[in-house]
Parts: sequence; C-alpha cells; structure tokens
Amino acid sequence: MLNPCSACSADCCKNYVITITSFDAVRIMERTGKGFSEFAVLEPLRLLNFDNDTVLECYRGGLRYDYVLALRSHHCLFLKRDRCSIRSFAPLVCRIYPHTESGQVIGGARCPMAANALFRLKGADRSLPNYRKQLGEYRKLVAEWNRKRGTVAECARFLVSRSRKIGIF
Ligand code: SF4
Ligand code: SF4
Repeated sequence: MLNPCSACSADCCKNYVITITSFDAVRIMERTGKGFSEFAVLEPLRLLNFDNDTVLECYRGGLRYDYVLALRSHHCLFLKRDRCSIRSFAPLVCRIYPHTESGQVIGGARCPMAANALFRLKGADRSLPNYRKQLGEYRKLVAEWNRKRGTVAECARFLVSRSRKIGIF
C-alpha cells in the first residue's frame, strides 16, 4: 500500500514537540552514539490536557515544576530532506503517529487529507502493541521518579540508568 507520508513535507516532525520515553532515548543513544542531551530534553510542561502519567516533577530553585521528556524538535534533528533518518529505531510515538495509543487516528493531525484517509484505511503501525507496553513501563518509571524527585539533571540520569537496567524495547 502507498506510504501515506510520501506526499507530505513532514509537518509533524517540524511543528510538534515530540514527547518520547526514556526507552526511546536509550535506544537512540545506543544506535547513534549520541549523548542524551544532544537530542533529548526535559521540556517545561506548557500543554493542557497532557497525559499526566508521563509528567515528571523536578525541583528548580527550591520550587517544583513539571516537565515532559521530548526530542529537541523544531525541526527534529533526525529529519533529513523531509524524511526520518532513524526510521527503524525512531521513538515509537513517531512510528505510530497519527494513530494514538488507542489505535484511533488523532483528531487534528497535521497530515494532508489524502494521507489522513490512507492512515485510517491502513490502521495503526504494527509497533502499536510495543508502544503500549513501553508506555506502560515508562509511566511506572515516571511514578517512581515523582516519589523521589530531584533536579532536571538528576531526573535525566535516573531515567537513562533505570531504562538501561530494565533493558526492554
Ligand atoms: S525521530 Fe524521525 S519521525 Fe520522529 S520527529 Fe524526528 S524525524 Fe520525525
Ligand atoms: S504522519 Fe502525517 S504529518 Fe507526519 S509526515 Fe506523515 S503525512 Fe505528514
């Protein structure tokens, strides 16, 4: 079947803050040799209606703030000539987009109309079950962090080291 993205200039990779999990980050670190902060960031949470179970609580100057783990985006540094250069090991959220965790095409997706229709016809990417599993593990890690808390730098170290130990995905 036709690739729905073939006639699109990767609007999603250029315009969204791409939230990932620490398992995605570790996989990308291992495959590219890049350090965590070269491509990932704990982004201060500015979005409403966000998945609260993936919100990381960290201290800055004695006060508590909320963050989400994301790719350094706009544009994503892995986007080359409007195509993903790490497609085979990209964050699972990228691989299932524009489908959501529930398998539905997201309302308000940036895909052109024809691409959107094709995605609906094709159904979700086969990595969806793996994405659900990964997200479940990541939510547990986030809860573990939020019970202990610390600075942003400590949080990044915690996520990477715990994800490496769990070693899945
Ligand atoms: S990792 Fe690939 S698919 Fe995901 S935002 Fe970056 S370029 Fe796009
Ligand atoms: S997922 Fe949608 S917005 Fe992203 S590249 Fe494909 S068609 Fe374009």
